[in-house]
Amino acid sequence: TTWAASPDRYASTDYRRAGRSGLLLPPVSLGLWQNFGDDRAPETARAILLRAFDLGVTHLDLANNYGPPYGAAESRFGQVLAGDLRPYRDEIVVSTKAGYDMWPGPYGDGGSRKYLLASLDQSLRRTGLEYVDVFYSHRRDPGTPLEETMGALDAAVRSGRALYVGISNYSPEDTAAAAAILAGLGTPLVLHQPRYSIFDRRPEAGVLDAAEAAGAGVAVFSPLAQGRLTDRYLRGVPEGSRATRSTYLSRDDVTDDLTARARALDEIATGRGQTLAQLALAWVLRDPRVTTAIIGASSVEQLEGNLRATQGPPLGDDELAAVERWAAP
Ligand code: NDP
Repeated sequence: TTWAASPDRYASTDYRRAGRSGLLLPPVSLGLWQNFGDDRAPETARAILLRAFDLGVTHLDLANNYGPPYGAAESRFGQVLAGDLRPYRDEIVVSTKAGYDMWPGPYGDGGSRKYLLASLDQSLRRTGLEYVDVFYSHRRDPGTPLEETMGALDAAVRSGRALYVGISNYSPEDTAAAAAILAGLGTPLVLHQPRYSIFDRRPEAGVLDAAEAAGAGVAVFSPLAQGRLTDRYLRGVPEGSRATRSTYLSRDDVTDDLTARARALDEIATGRGQTLAQLALAWVLRDPRVTTAIIGASSVEQLEGNLRATQGPPLGDDELAAVERWAAP
């Protein structure tokens, strides 16, 4: 039997504009960094993707090296796109990136035109897409002139491989410089993608301002601190959680200090009738400069719970002050 999307899929989502662009994104987007590799069951990956689309999540965030192994998440998404999601390509915004280690040798990492455009072609082949909606420089490569990296993003758009461009993990200064170069080329910076959560507030020190000044939206990643702002670790580190199976989060990263803060934040969330994850998402979305929060989910249940974040009451000043007390320094 063929899968059909829910006719109500747009009923309960208020889309948010990415900066001063024409691009609208859902408040909560789905990232495919960790739960869509070959180490995961394809049926679960497919179920999460389809449920997300049914609940109005029109934006999927990828990168060339999401897996494991590198490339696997793009391939997995490509399989679902070629099957169930095929009729809906124009209802979906697919983002991908290049900038971190991808293949051996001097052309598989960094910010050169050589690497970025070859990687984008590989991403198109893995996903089966004719173009991606957003192509990002995944990080600033200090060895490559910013003009060259931004020129590669502009070329991606002009050659029809991407519709919009973004940058990720760039400093405030590099963000301003990148936006100016892109504006000069006629390809505006549409998104900045920094890490931002109650436990990582560095973007408040300049990146959010720089994005706003450039007219760019902000798509924040790891808004749940990889699970540490959910109920996942409130009572120890369960087997099967990211801290037990990922190279990007270890048991040592679930510190007593963060867990104590998470427990206190969980009480604030309970007082609002929300889960900690919902509070953490409402908190990043309280800032109008933040267009969307890119979450990960290892199950449909996590996804569904997190998406209800936007249905809670707005955060009051007293609640914001209470969160402030437990936010990581
Ligand atoms: P989150 O902070 O949302 O962490 C997601 C993880 O938290 C899940 O995989 C799950 O872990 C746990 N979790 C989520 N919801 C719940 C819940 N309701 N209850 C219990 N546990 C929950 O984001 P990620 O760190 O996964 O990053 C999200 C996306 O951001 C990535 O997929 C990627 O697209 C993007 N990203 C971009 C980067 C960049 O450099 N530009 C870097 C990193 C991410 P578990 O496995 O334990 O169930």
